[in-house]
Amino acid sequence: MIGVYPGTFDPLTLGHYDIVERANKIFDELYVVIMHNNEKNTLFSTEERVDMAQNALKDFKKVKIECYSGLMVDYFNLKQADYIVRGLRAVSDFEYELQMALMNRSLESSVETLFLMTSQKYIFLSSSTVKAIASHNGDISKFVPPYVLGKITEKIKNLEE
Ligand code: ADP
Repeated sequence: MIGVYPGTFDPLTLGHYDIVERANKIFDELYVVIMHNNEKNTLFSTEERVDMAQNALKDFKKVKIECYSGLMVDYFNLKQADYIVRGLRAVSDFEYELQMALMNRSLESSVETLFLMTSQKYIFLSSSTVKAIASHNGDISKFVPPYVLGKITEKIKNLEE
């Protein structure tokens, strides 16, 4: 079984890590796909986001990190994948995720989306909150893998200079 887990991952948080850990138990191959069509709005470049994901997820042998800028259904077909994996947090994710899943299915009828529920402790965790807390020098060590913590600290320091 092949899964593709797309996202912006700006940066990868322990919430994303939690979903990868769960998906890793289900799939034989799992592609974590760093999307780069909205490059302008991201704090980290595509290369930086790929590097962070590669380092943070290096212990998962079945996981491959790739980046992509096209339509997810095209990537899905390219990989001959079985499922698109998405994480669900609070109720607020549901409408957006439902819309995306049904839109992808209407573009390509074979596309199924598999939703995995995050751990309760990550239910309100997002890349945006992590960036907001870090920009005010708050402690984000509980929310991101150690490698990402180093990179985000470095990035905020550089922006302040
Ligand atoms: P996107 O901009 O495509 O939503 P994200 O990088 O923010 O990209 O998220 C990618 C996927 O990971 C989405 O399915 C999102 O719901 C999920 N995700 C993000 N944060 C968490 C979290 N804390 N717990 C579970 N899933 C999460």
